[in-house]
Amino acid sequence: MLNAFPKLIALGFKSEGNFTVEDGYFITSALNVIGHALSLQTRVDELLVNKTRYTRLFESAPEAIAMVDQDNYIIDVNPEFEHMFLFRKADIIGKKIDELIAPRHLLKEAKQFTKTNWEGGRIAVETQRLRHDGKLIDVSVLGVPFIEGDGNLCIYGIYRDISERKKSEKQKISRIAFIEYMSRLSSDLINMKIDEIDQNIQQAIETVARFFGAERAYLVRLSDSQDFVKISHEWTCDQRFSHMERQPVIYLNELPVFFSKLMSGQMSILQRTDQEVTSGPDNLAFFFDLLNIESVVHIPLFIDHEFRGFIGFDTFSRPENWEEQVINSFKLTGQILVNALERKYKEVAIKNALQKAESSDKLKSAFLAGISHEVRTPMNHILGFIELMNEPYITKEEKDEYLEIMKSSGMHLLRLIDDVIELAMIDSGQVGINEMPCDISRFMESLLVESEGAKAEMNRSGVSLNLRIPPECRKLILNTDETRLRQILWNLLLNAIKYTPRGRIEFGFNFTGFNRIEFYVSDTGIGIDEEDLPVIFERFTRVENDFSRQFGGAGLGLSISQGLASLFGSCITVQSSKDTGSTFSFSIPYVMHSLEPAKNTKLNGEVRNYSWEGKSILMVEDDPVSMRFLTVLLLNTGASLFYASNGEEALLLLEEQKVDVVLMDMRMPVMDGYDTTRIIKKRYPGLPVVAQTAHAMKEDKSDCFDAGCDDYIPKPIDKNSLYSKLEQLLNRKNN
Ligand code: ADP
Repeated sequence: MLNAFPKLIALGFKSEGNFTVEDGYFITSALNVIGHALSLQTRVDELLVNKTRYTRLFESAPEAIAMVDQDNYIIDVNPEFEHMFLFRKADIIGKKIDELIAPRHLLKEAKQFTKTNWEGGRIAVETQRLRHDGKLIDVSVLGVPFIEGDGNLCIYGIYRDISERKKSEKQKISRIAFIEYMSRLSSDLINMKIDEIDQNIQQAIETVARFFGAERAYLVRLSDSQDFVKISHEWTCDQRFSHMERQPVIYLNELPVFFSKLMSGQMSILQRTDQEVTSGPDNLAFFFDLLNIESVVHIPLFIDHEFRGFIGFDTFSRPENWEEQVINSFKLTGQILVNALERKYKEVAIKNALQKAESSDKLKSAFLAGISHEVRTPMNHILGFIELMNEPYITKEEKDEYLEIMKSSGMHLLRLIDDVIELAMIDSGQVGINEMPCDISRFMESLLVESEGAKAEMNRSGVSLNLRIPPECRKLILNTDETRLRQILWNLLLNAIKYTPRGRIEFGFNFTGFNRIEFYVSDTGIGIDEEDLPVIFERFTRVENDFSRQFGGAGLGLSISQGLASLFGSCITVQSSKDTGSTFSFSIPYVMHSLEPAKNTKLNGEVRNYSWEGKSILMVEDDPVSMRFLTVLLLNTGASLFYASNGEEALLLLEEQKVDVVLMDMRMPVMDGYDTTRIIKKRYPGLPVVAQTAHAMKEDKSDCFDAGCDDYIPKPIDKNSLYSKLEQLLNRKNN
């Protein structure tokens, strides 16, 4: 038709006559053709505009779009697809879409979707797809079959990332599940028997930690002495990273700022990289390294506004930023658990108090039965020999001998009274465990030295004494109550020496499972009849034989030891057979002290010279014999000694003389130790005062501290404990 144009132009230049009819037809049909051509052009233009529009739409669509052909090969993808799945378009054109982004476990499902599309159906599903880096993402997929301009069928897959929505849905579900779990737990805990509480708390911290992706969770309790905290329950997803095994105890003065914040009710939410950790006032970085902490939340726990400890959640393999909602869940967990624990402690305390009341009642009856004999015998000796002393025919040698007998009977009585008081104190809960760092090998060695002395006194030259310490434990520092541990082992060792005329005694310790350390004392002595075994731990019970007669004793040693072992949550057991020997053993929870022992920690019984040149000690004591005793003890220490026989004298002396420490008797005429200490503390607040009193009850001790005393030492004075207390006070910074 286009070749009609020259003819049309020629017609336009026609110079003569009118157009013929033929011309008219021609012109009309030519104009029709031109009109048609022009409308085609408009259509092409429109198509071009549309194409650009749709291409732009495809390119800038916020959804990821992939176009695949009949065989499932990718024909085209838009930039959002590249962005969402982290592929480059050039790398994936011509690849099979399902093999590329459907995860293995969903491959079958993906193929089914494609099939539906090929059959002309649409699919709209929520599923998961794989990114190039291997991460699974939640997606909604719309699969639409589409006939191309060339008549070929292809499919558009449109993907939307719904991970965030899924995550918040999951969180919502887990939050509802968490609230349901917590309300069930709190009502269970209220009605639960107390011996089931610990196990349930254990489960609860594990469940909550798993819920919120923590890798460790722990409940930490403030000690009764309020100077350290100890982990009571712990869960960790990897036992190698257990805090309980590495650092179950932390003294408050190791992290003063951290603890003062907690005690004032502030939570501590920290990351390893936070400035508070890397360069804060406490050396937190050390603990983060020691305990492998990346992120941690510590929430203080209170009962009736009193700080009881904290609950902690942390991670060790990755940093974690818990949302406020999660932290609130941690808080709720802590409060529910601490309430349950409080109930447990209260009920246990009531039960113990009841038991103590009952056993103290029993003790009274046993005391009356047992004591009358035990007291009468030495008393008869003393009174009998006093009578004899007045006889005119008694020679000097005989007098000396009688005095010796009276002295030993007196000592026997004193020991008996000490034992009975000790038992009464254990029964009434006045003896507690006071844990301090203890160099366990040196402690055991000092017991060996003392036992050698006792062996010599009891003429046991035919007995070898051996101490066994596992070589890997040579430098071990444990947190334990050394004084109580010493009492138990000393009783067992004395018995072993008593009841082993010839042979071998071995003592030592071993680590057993479940974080416990087992101590034992073993001998090849006379052994114990099987039928006597059940009663030897009973009060005033002894097995009569030549040896028990020879050495005397009230049958209280083992009951005291058993009582003390129970304070450690332990029980002494015995294995013995007649004429072969006996082994006594007990195990206590093994708590490692990771830091160096405090500089001023001295082992009781350690033989050492004290040198306090330049220091001065004021002894306030009205009893001249006690004053003499103190003087003898302190004479060789190099300290200057000052004396006062009552409080008034002491205050006068202090006005003129600078003193570094005061040893204060509490019961004195004129002005007693309590009033004197109160005045001293007002006038010289930095001057340490050590109370010394024969009243060994707990109230006496607290009265002394109430009056302002810095320390306390019971009479009769144990010289090692006197020295170590003075050494500590004389070396205090402000001295
Ligand atoms: P005591 O030694 O004052 O008699 P204990 O309570 O220490 O009182 O001991 C109770 C009894 O247990 C003793 O009388 C003794 O018969 C027996 N016993 C304790 N230790 C041993 C031992 N190592 N070997 C043999 N018997 C022992």
